[in-house]
Amino acid sequence: MFDTKLLAASSEAIEEAASLIRSGNVVGMPTETVYGLAANALDEDAVRRIFAAKGRPADNPLIVHISELEMIKPLVTDIPELALKCAEEFWPGPLTMILPKSGLIPLVTSGGLDTVGIRMPSNKTARALIDASGVPLAAPSANLSGSPSPTKAEHVYKDMAGRIPCILDDGQCAVGVESTVVTFEKDSVRILRPGFISAEDLKAVCDNVIIDKGVVEAVANDAVVASPGMKYKHYAPKADVTIIDSSAEDFKSYCSALSDDSVLMVFDKKEAEGTGHDCIVYGADSTEQAQKLFDVLRQLDESGVKKAYARCPEKSGVGLAVYNRLLRAAGFQVIKL
Ligand code: AMP
Ligand code: MG
Repeated sequence: MFDTKLLAASSEAIEEAASLIRSGNVVGMPTETVYGLAANALDEDAVRRIFAAKGRPADNPLIVHISELEMIKPLVTDIPELALKCAEEFWPGPLTMILPKSGLIPLVTSGGLDTVGIRMPSNKTARALIDASGVPLAAPSANLSGSPSPTKAEHVYKDMAGRIPCILDDGQCAVGVESTVVTFEKDSVRILRPGFISAEDLKAVCDNVIIDKGVVEAVANDAVVASPGMKYKHYAPKADVTIIDSSAEDFKSYCSALSDDSVLMVFDKKEAEGTGHDCIVYGADSTEQAQKLFDVLRQLDESGVKKAYARCPEKSGVGLAVYNRLLRAAGFQVIKL
């Protein structure tokens, strides 16, 4: 058991966290996407501590975070032309690229795969922590496995108190949903997990952007998937969430007819007016929804809500990332009106 410290991300605190990382510990790290649980990606024992702190299944690989392009070379055996173009266009930023791993990356880090996901975050504290640690950092989202990803240091504290020695607090995450995860095929980029870097953005570097069908469809537990994370039930709030895919008008009439005490997750509180139900606003547009979604799911849990009906996000741009997360929170329950 640790007496977990919540430290404002000053340079002294970053140095303290880096020293913990150098001695094989796990620390809570802010990034622009969500908070991560960071440890030395090249140290098997340190990486095992990440899996233990989260309760993460051992076959769900970790993303390795670097602070400069130079750091990638020893970690992979090949960098396709398209990957270089993506790095140039989108790094530092919320894009993870799956590449063939070198022997330096332990199998524990890659979940037993021969590939590794690499990302260069833009958050200044994350970059300073990588620099000060002097090693690439393996970091999954800093939540307990199965609960919503943390977008504030308090969320990390709630899930990780006693499990890790320290958390760097850098306020609310700017993006709010995890990175876009891509793989490269001959002349195409395949999105395995949508994020703030959208399919539309990726078209700037590649004409052929494929959205894997696991992004919006449930996959069977025994299915062979391109990304192990796809098969796990993620982001599950305690409330039973249903997405209503409809116009604002139809949403209102559907919810008005519900006789239970369900809460409505809306873009604007007007959408719940006169329905007889309480509501929670989760963002007027896709960017705001990405920032707020996980916090709103945690708020539902805290207020003991049993049933929630959500307006359906856009299914393109950043909205696709919001839809992908909300679908999982809803256990794929969608009513199309
Ligand atoms: P998290 O660490 O919680 O952001 O989740 C990381 C996501 O990236 C999971 O969905 C993983 O399955 C996926 N991922 C990480 N590394 C790889 C890899 N080598 N191949 C495929 N997917 C990966
Ligand atoms: Mg996660």
